[in-house]
Amino acid sequence: AERARLAASEGPGRTADGHPVKLLLNIGSAADLVPGAEGVGLFRTEFLFLDRKQPPSFEEQVAAYAEVLARSPDVIVRTLDAGTDKPLPFLGLPDEPNPALGLRGLRVDRVVDGVLDTQLEAIARAAESTGTQAWVMAPMVTTVEEASEFARRARAKGIARVGLMIEVPAAALRARLLLREVDFLSIGTNDLAQYTFAADRQHPALADLLDPRQPALLQLIAMCAEAGAEAGKPVGVCGEAAGDPRLAPLLVGLGVTSLSMAPVSVPAVREELAGVTLEECRARARAALA
Ligand code: PEP
Ligand code: MG
Repeated sequence: AERARLAASEGPGRTADGHPVKLLLNIGSAADLVPGAEGVGLFRTEFLFLDRKQPPSFEEQVAAYAEVLARSPDVIVRTLDAGTDKPLPFLGLPDEPNPALGLRGLRVDRVVDGVLDTQLEAIARAAESTGTQAWVMAPMVTTVEEASEFARRARAKGIARVGLMIEVPAAALRARLLLREVDFLSIGTNDLAQYTFAADRQHPALADLLDPRQPALLQLIAMCAEAGAEAGKPVGVCGEAAGDPRLAPLLVGLGVTSLSMAPVSVPAVREELAGVTLEECRARARAALA
């Protein structure tokens, strides 16, 4: 038992019977990195520029991304996830009556020219300068058309691996088609729950609707994971649910291939997974879906 506990305390994530599950970090800058992690599943780049009135320069962005890429394997950089609900002053967006349903994430590119392309180019340059591969994903993707346009522009800049966040039910329903356009998916359960249950993710009185055990949410996650297995492409979870040790086996049982979480959550999730077999995870998933 002691040997099993020690084995679970470090190294890559796996179930008791050896099924690998990547345990990745959610970070906002290089300062959040911890040693020994398998990689970064969500680099929230908007955190670098929250108080800025002027857009960050190309060179400044290259430096910030390169700092992370140089210090961690397999970093997934998320393009700016800002909007009227998470304002970045330099975007100059007007107030909206319904910010969560308005211009945010990838949608900002509809009205603000240049920001996305500059960022994609800066990420590609950072990867080149650190001798690493750039993995990039877009937040708030909704349609296959958006996905294919994002992938086209990212690849044109030289990004090696292009992915999408699944945060909108419409995207989860089309996971199979989205995976024809890109290399991986990452499910943002915080927003996916908000939009599936029409419940503000911060609303204290709606916590039961936002509970990641809600079967409708699990069903959407399962659809994405099945599409990933079919396509032979990774499908991870990077919302808060991924860092909850009570939920990790359930998510693995639904078929997700990685869990990305706050660095502080990694040891408990690793230990929990090391104590259950893949078949036990699947049994939990079947029971929860039912
Ligand atoms: C999510 O929505 O689950 C997610 C990981 O993105 P964020 O919390 O940054 O919106
Ligand atoms: Mg989100």
